Order: sequence, then structure tokens, then C-alpha cells
Amino acid sequence: MGVFDHAEFDNHESLHYFHDVATGLKAIVAVHSTALGPAAGGTRRWVYNNDADALTDVLRLSRGMTYKNAVAGLKFGGGKAVILADDGSPKSPELFRAFGRSVNTLGGKYITAEDVGCSVEDMRYVHEETEFVSGLPQSGGDAGGDPSPWTALGCFQGIEAAVQARLGVDSVKGLRVAVQGVGHVGLYLCRHLHEAGAELFVSDVSSDCLKQVEAEMPVTVVPPADLLFADVDVLAPCALGNILTSATIPKIRAKVIAGGANNQLSTPADGVGLAERDILYAPDYVINAGGIISVAAEYYGNGSEEDVRTDVGRIKDRLKKIFEQARETGRPTHELADELARSIVAAARQ
Ligand code: NAD
Repeated sequence: MGVFDHAEFDNHESLHYFHDVATGLKAIVAVHSTALGPAAGGTRRWVYNNDADALTDVLRLSRGMTYKNAVAGLKFGGGKAVILADDGSPKSPELFRAFGRSVNTLGGKYITAEDVGCSVEDMRYVHEETEFVSGLPQSGGDAGGDPSPWTALGCFQGIEAAVQARLGVDSVKGLRVAVQGVGHVGLYLCRHLHEAGAELFVSDVSSDCLKQVEAEMPVTVVPPADLLFADVDVLAPCALGNILTSATIPKIRAKVIAGGANNQLSTPADGVGLAERDILYAPDYVINAGGIISVAAEYYGNGSEEDVRTDVGRIKDRLKKIFEQARETGRPTHELADELARSIVAAARQ
């Protein structure tokens, strides 16, 4: 499939394919925009059905990072990497070192970090080959390390804003919340929700992840195919994207959708579909910016954990504004967020 005529091509600045014979590394890095700073966004390691799916994913994810970093007020443009995993092939330090060398060839135009399928440990191997990586272990109260606890904190506080706006309640206490995917972000989010008194429904395709959450708190495990349609107040997608579609939206019973997954809407029309059903959607890249806020503080070396906590706290205020604007204008939340992001990037270009 071509790139310039690809449905997800959005004037991306550059696209880079990497292959390393020795380790089997196959990776694509997409730099969507450097208008606000180096293109930053995590690395996803995933088993894709084919190269075309990987390309679609990296084009969409990198654009999302431009919007996320802009709305969060970070000095980062948007980029993303995908590593094409073979089914069953283990991760290896050599693979991530090879990936680090690939990132290094871009000379700082792209800054990487963790995303689905990658850990802090993997980023340490990347760091052996390049400085252009964040999400590394820190000490002494400095910002950084695994971004997912921060992503989850922002999501939890964003859910509080959303239930306030849609259900008129001040907390999630007693609400039924469905969490799709209990990996890094999903598990941390469940901890916050449980502590705040929510009733939890969870799904995952990994039995290890389910065992972990079940060991920690009472949850009802729902088969992955049913979770989106559970009879709950809040749906918190924390797995992969493309889940809110013309096929799924009519069957969703939650009144609020607010979670950490990137690219939840399959198309912009699906955001309209949610608004028409009076389901309040927290734009994914606004609510899940906690991790990249931590990554930015670590990368620029200018923040403590407490500074990150304060900045992550601002996500809730941004969402409140978007929800308020949506109520006043009757426009879908994703449109308002996209408009805000594009205006920030356009101002930076000028
Ligand atoms: P992760 O790989 O640790 O967790 C994802 C979980 O989803 C895994 O446990 C996986 O088994 C599960 N999953 C996959 N398909 C599923 C399905 N169909 N149904 C149920 N579960 C399924 O990844 P993560 O870091 O927790 O990221 C989760 C989402 O949040 C991703 O979309 C990611 O891009 C986004 N995100 C993550 C961060 C971060 O800080 N890690 C930041 C912003 C956005």
C-alpha cells in the first residue's frame, strides 16, 4: 500500500523503516510533526497481521501523539514506533539494542519510550545505544521511569471529571466501571478505582494479567467479546484502539467512555455517533497524557515527581473545559479536542 495516498496519512513529516537481519528487528517509526519539538511517542511491539496493519497503526498513533503533546502543553511534536513481532518470538535485549541504534540514526528527531508490549527494562537496552529515549528508571524523587502509573492517574482523575459532567456525581464510589485490558495502565487504573469504591468489571486476553488483578481486589471477569457492552456506568478502554465503531457503539450501555487506550475511535464519525447516543467520551489523547507528561519531565530533566503529579492533575481541568464546551455548543468532545490541538500546532508553525 502506498503512503501518500493512505487513508491515515496526514501530512506526516517522515516515515522510517528499519530492518536488522541479526536480531530480526522489523520496525517503523513515523514522525508526524516536529512543530512543537522533537517527535515523541512510545514504541509498540505487537503481532500485526501484515505490514499494512502496522503502517496504519503507526500513522494513526503518531498523529495522536502530536495532538496529545500539543494539548498537554509539552515541548514535543508527535511520533511513534511500532516493532513488528513474530507470533511467539520472545523479546531480546539484542532486539531492543538494534532498535536503539535505529532510533539513534534519526539524530533526535524522534524520542522513544514504552508503549504496549514494551517495558522499562526494554528501554534500558534501547538506552545502551541512544540518548533519544525516556521512561528509564530514576532515583531520588526525579521525574521519570515507567509512565503507566501516571497515565492511569490522569485517567482516574479524568473519569472523575466525566462522571461529574455526565452523571452529576462527585466520585466513582458505587459506580460500575468496566476496564478493558488490565496490563500496565489498566491495572494501575483498577487500583485507583477500587480504592475509590467503584465496582469493577474487567477483561483481558492474557490470563496472567487477569490473575494479577483478581489477586489484588474483587473484580468480575467478563469475556473480552462482551466487555464493551457490559451493563456499567463507565467504560474504560485500556487495551488497543479501533474499538468504538459503527458496529459497537449502538450496543454500548455505559454513559461515559473514559480510558487510557490510544485511538479508541475508529473514525471521527464514531465520535459523533457517541454524542448522538448521549455517551460522554473523554478524548483519548487528552485523558491519557499522564505518561507522556512524565516522559517529557524526565527527558528535559526539569521536574520532580511532585511536579509531574501537579501537571497530570491539569488533565482533569482540561477535560472539564471540553465537557463544558460540549454541553454549551452541542458539539462532540473529540471535535473540540481536535480543534484545540490543531490550533496549538498551527500557532507553533507560524
Ligand atoms: P499493556 O500491553 O501493558 O496492556 C494492554 C493489555 O490489554 C494487555 O494486558 C493485553 O493482554 C490486553 N488486551 C489486548 N487486547 C485485548 C482485548 N481485545 N481485550 C482485552 N484486553 C486486551 O499496555 P499499556 O501500556 O497498559 O497500554 C494500554 C493502552 O494505553 C494502549 O492503547 C496504549 O497505547 C495506551 N497508553 C499507554 C500509556 C502508558 O503509559 N503505558 C500511555 C498512553 C496511552
